[in-house]
Amino acid sequence: MISTPALVAPSAGAPFEARTVEHRDLRDDDVLIDVKFAGICHSDIHQVREEWGSAHFPMVPGHEIAGVVSAVGDGVTKYKVGDRVGVGCMVDSCGECEFCKNGEEQFCSKGAVMTYNGKGYDGEPTKGGYAQQVVVSERFAVAIPDGIELDVAAPLLCAGITVYSPLKRWGAGPGKKVAVIGLGGLGHMAVKLAAAMGAEVSVLSRTDAKKEDGLALGATSYHATGEDGVLDSLKSSFDLIINTVSADLPMQAYIGLLRPLGVIANVGLPSGNYDFAPGAVVGRSRVVAGSNIGGIPATAEMLEFCAEHGIGATIEKISADEVDAAYDRVVAGDVRYRFVIDTATIAS
Ligand code: NAP
Ligand code: ZN
Repeated sequence: MISTPALVAPSAGAPFEARTVEHRDLRDDDVLIDVKFAGICHSDIHQVREEWGSAHFPMVPGHEIAGVVSAVGDGVTKYKVGDRVGVGCMVDSCGECEFCKNGEEQFCSKGAVMTYNGKGYDGEPTKGGYAQQVVVSERFAVAIPDGIELDVAAPLLCAGITVYSPLKRWGAGPGKKVAVIGLGGLGHMAVKLAAAMGAEVSVLSRTDAKKEDGLALGATSYHATGEDGVLDSLKSSFDLIINTVSADLPMQAYIGLLRPLGVIANVGLPSGNYDFAPGAVVGRSRVVAGSNIGGIPATAEMLEFCAEHGIGATIEKISADEVDAAYDRVVAGDVRYRFVIDTATIAS
């Protein structure tokens, strides 16, 4: 077994504790990664606080992992010691179904193994990136291009790919008007990526507090949706809306912001249901879509795109003892724009 210091949530909503956890010895296709940085995704908070139903504890969250390979299994061909790699939301899949063969491992017919709060095919609980080391099959480690520092690369492994995927799928690019709802971890990446793809980007945030930032990230317009009349003034304006909001939203009002044939791609995962009338989508042939992370080939492509365009996440680096407070700040919408844990600060 491989022992490593980690941040552990002992039970739902309880404060984190620094503890030593154990990883399996390397299998033939495994790499051992010295984790340098781990992003805090709102999904970590949903799971630690059991907002998505019952979870597995003790839990080591973290699926925005950036680090350096420090050992390899006997059969590893993709990486060598010293390579810079990232790990996102998945650590295994069957590799044989039509989806895996297509590089869409998130839809694996057997069920992809999630990086934490899940069980491997061996029945062992998975443990995520709030730790100094992780063990993962080389198939689920992605090379981080040299041009991107590890701290700003970590959030790309979930926030980056989660918004890159619907932006690409629904044709963000020159001549397209894209709106991003919620300027948090996913939202700020959506603004950067959509602008780099050549789209005209608008931010829809609750207040004006992030206006300067939104424009600096690449948006050309910014709207405070909490102000009277703002949503009405934006009716039929956008070809594509990426909804990153972590809380329930009046869906019908936002569908109304789409032009005919427009698409609202939802990536936020609050616990409530969407509420809208059939006429809201039928009348103008609009699409209400969802999108779930992205496969490994798309993640590699996204990282290359980021390196080409000089894109990393905008981060606040924190130490291990600041994670509990950071969770509260994320929930309050008070993060600019991703907390990233320096894993060297986890007490051993
Ligand atoms: P985040 O950093 O907290 O950003 C969410 C943003 O939503 C906030 O910055 C805020 O933006 C807005 N917001 C928060 N509470 C709100 C409320 N009550 N009403 C309206 N707007 C509110 O979270 P994140 O890490 O980007 O994650 C966002 C969501 O995506 C989470 O639900 C997460 O679980 C989900 N997620 C999904 C996938 C996927 O594969 N689909 C992957 C990763 C995460 P403003 O302050 O600008 O209004
Ligand atoms: Zn995430």
